[in-house]
Amino acid sequence: MNPNPQKIVSKFGGTSMGDASCMLRSAQICLDRQSFIVVVSATSGTTNLLIEIGQKSEKGLWLEVEKDLKNLEDNHLKIANDLKINQESEKQLKILLAEVASIAKGIFLLKDGSVKALDTLMSLGERLSSVLFTEALRQIQKTETDKNKVTWLDARDIIHTDDQFGKARPFISKIAQLCQNLDLKKFYVTQGFIGSTESGSTTTLGRGGSDYSAALFAEGVSADILEIWTDVPGIASTDPRIFPKAVVLKEISFKEASELATFGAKILHPATLAPAMRKNIPVFVGSSFDPDQTGTWVRREVTDYPLIRALALRKNQVLLTLTTPEMLHAHGFLFQIFKVFNDHKISIDAITTSEISVSVTLEKSALLNKTLIQELSKFAEVQIEENLSLISLIGNNINHTPGLAHKIFSAIPEINVRMICLGASKHNFCFLVKDEQGQDTIRCLHQLFIS
Ligand code: ADP
Ligand code: ASP
Ligand code: MG
Repeated sequence: MNPNPQKIVSKFGGTSMGDASCMLRSAQICLDRQSFIVVVSATSGTTNLLIEIGQKSEKGLWLEVEKDLKNLEDNHLKIANDLKINQESEKQLKILLAEVASIAKGIFLLKDGSVKALDTLMSLGERLSSVLFTEALRQIQKTETDKNKVTWLDARDIIHTDDQFGKARPFISKIAQLCQNLDLKKFYVTQGFIGSTESGSTTTLGRGGSDYSAALFAEGVSADILEIWTDVPGIASTDPRIFPKAVVLKEISFKEASELATFGAKILHPATLAPAMRKNIPVFVGSSFDPDQTGTWVRREVTDYPLIRALALRKNQVLLTLTTPEMLHAHGFLFQIFKVFNDHKISIDAITTSEISVSVTLEKSALLNKTLIQELSKFAEVQIEENLSLISLIGNNINHTPGLAHKIFSAIPEINVRMICLGASKHNFCFLVKDEQGQDTIRCLHQLFIS
């Protein structure tokens, strides 16, 4: 036996949980590494299905909800059947499926699908998949002793958060304290994406949040390695769905990877690297479908620091331009603006200013918040432009390299660049274009800087 086993936290996304064979393949990865904590997502498509169930219930479309509930049940019972799970786990699965139906009925009767109710509903995706995965991992253990070590853990007992439902913020030191209760001799299987408030209400960390959960567990237990297993063989130079010739990166620094995640690369939830950086935990990203490939290592220090390592595309951006002559020779205007965004818990991604105006980019969903625009209109004229995409070039020494802007914009002479952000970071140069020009811009810049 290895006298100094590494403490590994492994996370598997929805496609790695897709069916019984995916689960068994993922379980084998955990077995090979003796992962201490395994964090799983809902099976692929389940979170979207649960959201639909919530929305249709609220709209009173009960017949459609029943069909969706049946689909959800069939998908999970098929995996259960293929894995030949034991009676106890089957009972646990059925209790959870009944909980989905009860919550849907509650939303239907009250016609109230609040974010709080939706969080509990969505949490069932991960709670269901983790019951199945616990069985898969238990089955492939070689000895009875090891089978008994496999333990299902309710993530809500550890991931304590505030009550910002839909995008809850974790309490880092509380999580570290609760992680002390974990037994190092066990193998835990737990849920990504979900947490609970101090008073016990279920929360979620935002879409794609399982990566973040895994990083929080890794930080809480001071893991040696955090592994993110997904459906692509690592972090690529850009989203392979946009540009199939994208190359898998062998390594990338924490800072570059954080920019990449924040500016649109879905491969990692934007907050994932913060806990890893705080504890300096190396992060491995690889494909659960082909675990022997080299994958990508995300580390504090890397061996080389290219000018441009990767490109990211963030679609569906909105540009808000706030103009007021009162900004001339005045102070406090930016403070007023940021206060409104802060009160509405809306984050700004990119920003530029002139003497009498400020432009900021936001996610399109921010426009659903009508009072935000009303409040901003009280002290500035507000112009809204939609259907934009942020293009980001991620690398090193970007704000100190002569000729870079010339090189970028000479390559895309036909494209109208609506806004440019450069200077704040050594690692990012981003600009805004029309949504329909986003992918072509990425392909063109990839050819120029990376291919
Ligand atoms: P999971 O369910 O495993 O969390 P996601 O769908 O959330 O998987 O993230 C993986 C997807 O991220 C890939 O299938 C890929 O299309 C997309 N992606 C976006 N940008 C990148 C990138 N730079 N490198 C690799 N994949 C990327
Ligand atoms: N299941 C959640 C989602 O689809 C969280 C995740 O997969 O990371 O958003
Ligand atoms: Mg994901």
